[in-house]
This record gives sequence, structure tokens and C-alpha cells, in this order.
Amino acid sequence: VKDLNVVAVDVGATNLRAALFSGTSPVRLRKVPTPRTSGDDLIMAIIGLIKEVSQGEDFNAIGVASIGPLDISRGLILYTPNLGYGNVRIRDSLGEEFRRPVYLANDAMAGVWAEKVLGKGKGLNDLAYITMSTGLGVGAVVDGNLLVGRRGNAHELGHAVISFESDMPCGCGGVGHWEAFVGGKNIPRVAARLAQLWNGSKTRAYELASRGGLSPELLYSMAREGDPFAAHVVDYINRAHAAGIMTLIAAYDPEAIFIGGSVYLYNEDLIRPGVIKHLQRYVGVFGVPRIERCSFGDDQVLEGAAAIAMSPPSSIARDAYRP
Ligand SMILES: [Zn+2]
Repeated sequence: VKDLNVVAVDVGATNLRAALFSGTSPVRLRKVPTPRTSGDDLIMAIIGLIKEVSQGEDFNAIGVASIGPLDISRGLILYTPNLGYGNVRIRDSLGEEFRRPVYLANDAMAGVWAEKVLGKGKGLNDLAYITMSTGLGVGAVVDGNLLVGRRGNAHELGHAVISFESDMPCGCGGVGHWEAFVGGKNIPRVAARLAQLWNGSKTRAYELASRGGLSPELLYSMAREGDPFAAHVVDYINRAHAAGIMTLIAAYDPEAIFIGGSVYLYNEDLIRPGVIKHLQRYVGVFGVPRIERCSFGDDQVLEGAAAIAMSPPSSIARDAYRP
């Protein structure tokens, strides 16, 4: 990693964040709500943030990590219900404004690159990052290379089928996907289905779940307080994670898996041990790899955007904006 100034931008569904990095640490960081109105408003907000964090200081490159789907080869954010608009010409708009190289990656790719370049994954050639939040995202480095794919949507493992007999609906239109069972926005529905099959005592979590109101926050706090129905749902979701993680292990053979995202970061105590317990049944001869909390918590994606600008992986550099 070279000791140079870069600007990192994290385009999330809720917040838009930018920071100036000098070396490997953020110097100035700013955050605003992500505009829900149009792609032009998003671009204007990012330009404003970059001017704020750079304060006239020179920088060498811009790294952008965004929610997907993306078309990295054309530098676009495609339509996503999370934003409500799409085909945002993000790469070239920023490049034309600032006349610096612009590197675009999706958020989970950035998350794994942050581990490899700046985090606990330094020195590893095979590693993965999982984000557990409203959705489920995976980034992977295999043989030292960041996996990107034709347009930048490789390893969409949140949409791996983990239950072929299930009709559990996923936001993508498919059924039985990993994200359908574990995505924060899907957890109330999963809990409601489990409530219909529940023969145990009618606890507070059970009553909430029956009405579709067991949010991830309530689920994990009630499980922590000892509610047996909440504990049952947590165990079920951990089993779904274990199935998804086995698919990841079979696909990429990682030495270590780093996990972040708000649902995981606040509930690691209830997720990590349960996932590892269920994984034992699934892994067979492959064994359970290192599974750890990600290095940068809530800043994982922002650190990843910086890592991509400081030390661009070839799979992203080939599609960068060059002034
Ligand atoms: Zn799906």
C-alpha cells in the first residue's frame, strides 16, 4: 500500500459516506442520507461530499463502493429497489468532475478487499467477506484475485439456493435463497412462518412473530433474554447461514471468512457459535475455516473503497475511469 491520498465513497441504501484517506487511515469523514430522488441528485451529493472531505487537498484516486447491482464495465449503478432509480453514470461523472482515476466496486467486494489490503486478511490469498444486514452479500478473493465477473455481479451468493423444497420468497424474485431466510428485511416473515409451526409456549416473541412484527432487533434481544421461541428462530437462521456458508466454502475454498454488517456486528454472540455448530454437519472433509468478525465494523465498506483506490485489484482496474 502506497502512502498517498485517496478519496473513498460508500454508497449505501441508507447513508452516503465519504472520507479522505492519507495512508491507511481516514482523515476526514462525512455522512449524509442517500438521496432517494434521482441519480443526478446522488452524483451531486457525492461531488459535494468529496469537496468537503478533500478541502482542496490533492488526492490521487477515488474509490467508490456501492450497493448493487452494478455494471462495472460501463461504470453504472443499475436499477435497484433500494434506491428507487438506476443507470446512474457514477464512474465517469466523478472522473470528469475531478480528473482523477475512479475505481468502482460493489460493497461486498470492497469489504473483502479491505480485509486483504488493510485488515486481518493481510497475507492471505483466499478469503471471503460476508455482510449480514438487510440483505446478504458476499465478496471473495481467490488465488489473490478479487472476483468480479462480467459486469461486476459475480458471487451473488446471497441468491444461492439453500433449500430446494422451500417456497420462501426472495426479493430477487426467486425462492429458497440464502438471503430469503436470513436477510434482515426477510426475518419477520421467516419468524411468522416458524410461528405457524410452533408447538411450544406462546411467548412474547411468538406473539410478535405471529403478527409479522419480530424485527431482527427484537428477535436477537428477546433470544438474549431467554425467550424460547426467539431462540428457536435464531437457531433456524443460524442453520440457514451454515448452509449458505457451506456453499461459499465449496465454491471458493477460503482460508478465512470475515463477517460484518449491522445484524452480525450487534449479534455476533448469538450468530457465530450457532453457525459454527451447524457448519460441523455440513462441511464433511472440507473442515470449518477461520470465521471472524471483520476488521473495520461499520466502516468496512468505506475502508474497502479506500483499499481499492490505494491498491486496485486488476479485475477492477481494467474498468477504471482514466483522466
Ligand atoms: Zn434471491
